[in-house]
Amino acid sequence: VLNYFEQRCQTSKRMAEQAKHVIPGGVQHNLAFNYPFPLAVTQVSGAHMTDADGNRYIDFLQAGGPTLLGSNYPDVRAKVHALLEECGPVTGLLHEYEIKLAELVCDAMPGVDMLRMMGSGTEAVMGAIRLARAYTGKKRVIKIGGGYHGWSDQMVYGMRLPNTGRMEAIGIPRGATATTQESLPNDLAAIRRKLQWNRLRGGTAAIIVEPFGPESGTRPVTKDFNAQLRRLCDEFDALLIFDEVVTGFRAGMGGAQAYFGVTPDLTILGKCLTGGYPMAGAIGGKREIMMMLVGGIGTTAKRAFVGGTLTANPLSCAAGYFALQEIQRTDAAAKAGRAGDRLRQGLEQIIERLGLPYVAYNMGSIVHLQTSGVMLLDTSNLLKLVRLKNEARQRKHMMEEMGAAYAAHGLITLAGSRIYTSLADTDAVIDDALNRFEDV
Ligand code: PMP
Repeated sequence: VLNYFEQRCQTSKRMAEQAKHVIPGGVQHNLAFNYPFPLAVTQVSGAHMTDADGNRYIDFLQAGGPTLLGSNYPDVRAKVHALLEECGPVTGLLHEYEIKLAELVCDAMPGVDMLRMMGSGTEAVMGAIRLARAYTGKKRVIKIGGGYHGWSDQMVYGMRLPNTGRMEAIGIPRGATATTQESLPNDLAAIRRKLQWNRLRGGTAAIIVEPFGPESGTRPVTKDFNAQLRRLCDEFDALLIFDEVVTGFRAGMGGAQAYFGVTPDLTILGKCLTGGYPMAGAIGGKREIMMMLVGGIGTTAKRAFVGGTLTANPLSCAAGYFALQEIQRTDAAAKAGRAGDRLRQGLEQIIERLGLPYVAYNMGSIVHLQTSGVMLLDTSNLLKLVRLKNEARQRKHMMEEMGAAYAAHGLITLAGSRIYTSLADTDAVIDDALNRFEDV
């Protein structure tokens, strides 16, 4: 595998070295795939990407999820070009595409009466939590099981679970996470105990959850978990926040909330919302709660403050509007989902045929291929925590090696364990991919 990178990826290697002088670690994003060094990409289209040395790959990273139509979708690109010709990327005032995108999302998502654009999923989470606290007058927030909700101080809490084996707590004062609590997925009794405990200690403003389970379903939740959370939130007067950054539009136009038939009070959107274009983030929610964002000059209404220089930009909104229209028109979520099913079935057959200790599963276009064992989730005593740390370290290393091996066989994945399919994944692409997976 390393020979491949040495022999076939010299330009990427040189660029990665050059980048290290001016970019910490040589990468602007730490999630995807950087071992043994990040590949420099020159061209992406549909289901494929090409690196700076001319090597071609099947692109199952899909930029980390946002390009459900496939990369660099021509029709959306042309419309974004046209908009740029007319008014450029930003005005700071109002543009019709801001309204059009908001109307489209409000129509599609049961829990979204109003929408406010933000700069990223991280920002949208921060804003939603502030809104929840402002609306309920309570302070604590329960997040579910090491889920990723962006990198804000309060949400980095518990991030040791996914890969590092340590708390990502450097640079974060203890006070910043003092009101964040974490509960394992599916453990409703523990969540109830926290809600009860919180009653006398500032109350619970919200429970925030990725509705398919933490880390895009890396740890899946049971079928009725979300409905149970809804009931608990109602019982304890807390808001239910769905982080639909990944599931938003991959689970269908109505998101995971339509899929599960559970309506959250607030919804976080990102990724697919702008079809892969920048500034992918928004808070959506019930009108009464969202109206807490209004106020200020000339009113006496209480106001939860959020802002952003580039949040009101026509470029992201036009890109999102046209991408979502196209997702709707082409039934992209269902089709990418069928490609995900086909890929997962094929992977299962390979796993069985070769007798590998791996697990493949999918929720539509979000496919997981776990080659490094199942994460131990029980952190209830020190011994288990030490084991968890070791396992997490091994798991991270294994994922990196698998990611590199896939790439050497022409497959780009997310962190060697996750695959996003898209509308561009024809049967031929999936069959080609399965042959490559089998080789690996
Ligand atoms: N929530 C979830 C569920 C995510 O997957 C992500 C990003 N992977 C975020 C929030 C943060 O979004 P962003 O990277 O746009 O800040």
